[in-house]
Formats: sequence, structure tokens, C-alpha cells
Amino acid sequence: MTITYHELRQISKEKARELVRKVLDNTKGNVSKTARILTISRKTVRRARDGSQSGRGKDGTIVTAKEAEVWYCMHDASRVQEGVLNKKKIILVPLFAAVILCCGCATRRPAGREVQLPACSEGTARTVGKREGAAGGSEAVEIQYTVAPWHGFSRAACSLTFDDGTKDQFALAYPELEKRGLTATFFLITRFRKRGYWKDGDTRRSLFGWDEARELYGAGHEIGSHTISHPDLTKEKTRARWEIAGALSKLKKEIPSLEETTFAWPYWRSDEKCRESAADYYVAARAGSGTVENYKKEAAHRRIDLFRVDSLPMRGGQFHEPWKSGFETVLDNTGWLVLCFHGIDDGRIDTAWLGWDPMTLKQFQETLDWIQGRSFWVAPFGTVARYIRERDRAALTLLYAEDGRYVLSLEDDLDDRIFCLPLTLKLALPVSWRTLRISQHRRELLYEVSPDGALLFDALPDGTPVYIERL
Ligand SMILES: [Zn+2]
Repeated sequence: MTITYHELRQISKEKARELVRKVLDNTKGNVSKTARILTISRKTVRRARDGSQSGRGKDGTIVTAKEAEVWYCMHDASRVQEGVLNKKKIILVPLFAAVILCCGCATRRPAGREVQLPACSEGTARTVGKREGAAGGSEAVEIQYTVAPWHGFSRAACSLTFDDGTKDQFALAYPELEKRGLTATFFLITRFRKRGYWKDGDTRRSLFGWDEARELYGAGHEIGSHTISHPDLTKEKTRARWEIAGALSKLKKEIPSLEETTFAWPYWRSDEKCRESAADYYVAARAGSGTVENYKKEAAHRRIDLFRVDSLPMRGGQFHEPWKSGFETVLDNTGWLVLCFHGIDDGRIDTAWLGWDPMTLKQFQETLDWIQGRSFWVAPFGTVARYIRERDRAALTLLYAEDGRYVLSLEDDLDDRIFCLPLTLKLALPVSWRTLRISQHRRELLYEVSPDGALLFDALPDGTPVYIERL
């Protein structure tokens, strides 16, 4: 399997640039307005407009992963209907997308917080149709399918998470992530961002501002919640719900296009009541454990609570070889490696900017390089949590079959406004089908045929038809 998550996003780079230009046209060339509508930086809008060669792509496709995703989501029926772009009459909505919406989604939030790792959905999609080589008339057609445990059939998943939102993370971690094309999750304390510092006991820590948060979000990183004021929620019986819900309201206010996000427990502490509250507002919540040994023990568990997902703390004081064995354990268990970073120090940065127990920039770079060298699917915390939910609930239906043509529908029972990630599918197709055209939402999808004849591709689990044609 060679279609990685990043490649998937790259498919639509050209299209994303086209979108930026389309929005520019509609705003009469207003760069700021376009940037606001698409939640991207003005710099990126200008680069897309000018077709600058100075960006990351050799062909001048300088559009970021976030923009590619915006384009992708434009083709998601529910987003098209709800999206700000549609209200501004910029995008032509495919008629069938509107029809699909009528089917709706029953559950806004899935019940039950526990999930099984790594697990994948397998099944048989059946219909009555005309089969390859059939002499005429109709007969039952069956397709065996598998939904990948992790995107792109990666061996394991990895999420890089940063707590508190200190200035060193923006100044040092962000550029390192960008260099490597990695996206991460930044869990922010929401109250002190304007003031610019937070009192962590006796230590005053500088926090980056909302402009920086918006820039991170625009570059494709997830902005998550770490409460309003960073209390130990297990000791805040009356204010806990306010801390949990209020932080989300603040994030939505400061980043208008942020709809749903994830949460991280201050001091990694939570109780059942808090977790129930968090489940009312967030997609998932991250906890933590103190040592590599604890983490390895937890990683061996196959059932996890999505509102108490364990993480491995990456701390300067604790940085030693065993962290690699913690990572290896997750790979061996084909699980989900969640790393929790605080401070990053290059020896030159203002000490007031440093987060808790900083690791050196060199250690940080080494960690990222090590992860990139392994077969992890690296994605923000909320992306992986959504994938797990969708994967566990998705089922494939064969709507129609005839010689050289299948129409399928991949569907979960989740709210497509929140759960709008493509899932990787593996299908067993007739041997003679090697050159194909696959499309969904009027967009051609990349695919690959594996040596054993299985077809691999990504599709959205929103019930919109997936067309597979033999060429
Ligand atoms: Zn914290």
C-alpha cells in the first residue's frame, strides 16, 4: 500500500489552489476576506494567487495540507450544505449531494466511549446484478471488503500532542513539524492568551496568542482544549463542567471555522464524572502516564476509553533510551502511539517561553525523525479518534452491479459534520479489472491494485455513491 495520508491530501493540491482562486474571484480579489473564509493565512492566499515557485512544491503548488483538506471537505455533502462557502454562493453544489443529505445521520455523538484497538471492519457487500461473464439475466454479486485498521493500512498510528500552548512550541516545534510535513495537536489553556502568560505554580510561562493559534490551525494542525484555567478537574466538583465547556466556546469564538475538537486533561487527571462531561462536548480526550513502563503496560491493552487515551510524556528530565522501546511496543501491538510534549529548548530561546520540563530541540528532532522512519500513520489526535469511530461503524453496500461497473455505498451512522474523514478500503475485484476509474462526490479517487489482486482506495463513509468502472 503506498497511498499515505499525506499523499491523499496532495491529490487535491491543484484543486485546492483552484479553490483559493475561485474564492478570490468572488471576493473581488480581497486577500484578507479570502483568508478568513478559508481559514488560511494571507500569505498563502497570495502565493496561490501568484502561483509562486517559492513554496514547498516544485510545480508551484504551494497550497498547504489544510487547504487541500478544505477542498476535500467542500465535496463532502454535509459540509457543502452547512459550509460558509455555500452561503456565499461560491461553490456550485452537486445536486446529488443535496439529495444524499436527506438521508441524514441519526447520531450526533456515538454512544459508548470504549473502542477496540486495532480492529478493522470486514464484510461482504451483496446485490443482485449482472456478473462478469454471465450469460445474461441477473444473479447475486458479492464483494469481500476490509476497512483498514489505520489509514492506508499503516501498521500503527501516532499522534503528536503539545500541552498548554507555550511560546517555545510555536517558535521551535511548529517549524520542525512543518519541515517534515507532520501535523500535530496543540491543547491550549484558553484564558491567559491575551495576557500572554500563565502562572504554573510559582513559574510564569509565556503563552502564544490567538493569532499564532489561528496560524497553526490554518496550517492543518489541530487546536484542542486544555480547559480555561488549567485546574485539577478531579478537585473542581462545581466548576469542572464550566472549565470543560467554556474552553470549547472560547476556541470556537477565536477560531470561527473550528467546529469540533478534542480535549486534554490537566495533570492527566480525570474522574468518571469529568469524562462524561467531556464526552458531551468533545470527540475524544487525552490523558497520560508518568513513565515508559506504565505506558507499555497500557499499550498492551486492546480496549481503550476514547476519553482517557493514554499518552507517553516526552520530558527533558526523563529523556532516555527506553522511550524507543515504548514506541516499539505500540508498533508491535499495531496500536496508537500518543506522545505528550511540553517544553522544547534550543539553548537560545527566552527561558520565560519554555514549557514544563523541556526536552532539547535535538531530542525533539531525533524523536520526529525516528517516528518518520517507521511505518506509523502520523495524524492529529482528533483525526485518529475520528478514524477509529468511523472505521468501527462503517459498512459497505453494493448498490448496483453490471459488467465492468459497480456502484457502492460506504456508510457509518455518525454525524458527517464531525466524522468526515476518508477511510481506506480493500476490495476483492474480478481478476480482469486492473485499470479502473473510481469516483465519489464527482471526484476521481486514487487507487492501487495490490500484488494479490486487491483494490485499495480511500472513500468517505457518508453514504454517497462510489463508482468503480473498468476501463
Ligand atoms: Zn497542562
